[in-house]
Amino acid sequence: MTNCHQSSLLAAYLRRLINANGPLTVARYMSEALNNPSFGYYTTRDPLGTRGDFTTAPEISQMFGELIGAWFIDCWRGLGAPDPVLLVELGPGRGTLISDLWRGIAVSPDFRAAVRFCLVEASPVLRSQQQQRLSNLRPLPALDWYSRLADVPDGTLMLIGNEFFDALPVHQFVAGADGWRERLIDRDLCQADAFRYVLSHGRTPATAWLDSGNKSADAMEVCPSGLSLAHDIAERVTRVGGAALIIDFVANYLDFSLQAVRGHDHHDPLMSPGSADLACAVNFAALSKVARTAGALVHGPRGQGAFLESLGISSRAERLAQGVSAETSQMIHSGRRRLTEPGFMGELFQAMAITSGSLVSVAGFEPT
Ligand code: SAH
Repeated sequence: MTNCHQSSLLAAYLRRLINANGPLTVARYMSEALNNPSFGYYTTRDPLGTRGDFTTAPEISQMFGELIGAWFIDCWRGLGAPDPVLLVELGPGRGTLISDLWRGIAVSPDFRAAVRFCLVEASPVLRSQQQQRLSNLRPLPALDWYSRLADVPDGTLMLIGNEFFDALPVHQFVAGADGWRERLIDRDLCQADAFRYVLSHGRTPATAWLDSGNKSADAMEVCPSGLSLAHDIAERVTRVGGAALIIDFVANYLDFSLQAVRGHDHHDPLMSPGSADLACAVNFAALSKVARTAGALVHGPRGQGAFLESLGISSRAERLAQGVSAETSQMIHSGRRRLTEPGFMGELFQAMAITSGSLVSVAGFEPT
């Protein structure tokens, strides 16, 4: 089945849902478009890389995974070098970060021997790609796959979520004179087969979560699954010890942040659902609040550029560029710039750590 055919089947399914139950929440639309078991964007393809729709930090440079490996070694020592330790990646994409991290942590054989990888991946296509890629690692690490963090067994937790939280479904709200209204997605009757945004006539199950006194904003985006995941991570690291790193993009404007990308270009999120990546800016302040409430320490957020610089990306780039061709050296330095410079990912992407109370200070987040 072609991607185009899958997208029209998904659109037809969404129209039937709307006909039966009324307009969809933005969250339902997002989760169908991304994760529908038959036609979802992630379920049916590998979206990454130059031939895909978007490129993530691990795909830009091996230094990203290597430095995150160094960050975990530092946290692991701070935790008293527990063995075993579960190293969870949420949404591992092509498995690139884990591959680079595994090579990078060879400098600490004790840590390497203690690590058991737990990969949380919903997409069967990406899961099999990860299995293929990671089965070539030598020595072969312990690797297990799970559909949800809740299924990962208990144990000292080290976790990385890079560009994972931005794929979690959000609800959107608009403040009206008589309370919050939810932004919904309906069929566009003027244009056959198209979708459009509408406002709920009254309350919805989701507007009931909002604090009726909270009228400081005209519009609001809430990601319940992101909040509950941050709570679960914080609860685990507080109870059994550990450190989690969340890296994602933030909004550089107020209002709604749902966006679609296809073929490395902006796309209308309501057009051909399932054919483009959908993502929302991550609200680090909200994640931080639930993590602290669950008893964990929160470090950052701070810009990805400052975080990677403080982990030593510049000297790593210098070292990698020694004795290589001019072309490779240029590639290494351009990768470093894309990851760190404010005009690229350096500030738009932020890093935040959630740790157990014993890790008062962690690498990359030292006070400046
Ligand atoms: N972290 C990778 C890939 C980011 S793309 C990188 O930086 O390159 C998002 C990843 O999360 C994909 O692997 C996608 O299949 C997975 N994913 C998206 N929604 C998910 C969900 N609800 N549960 C589990 N995995 C999910």
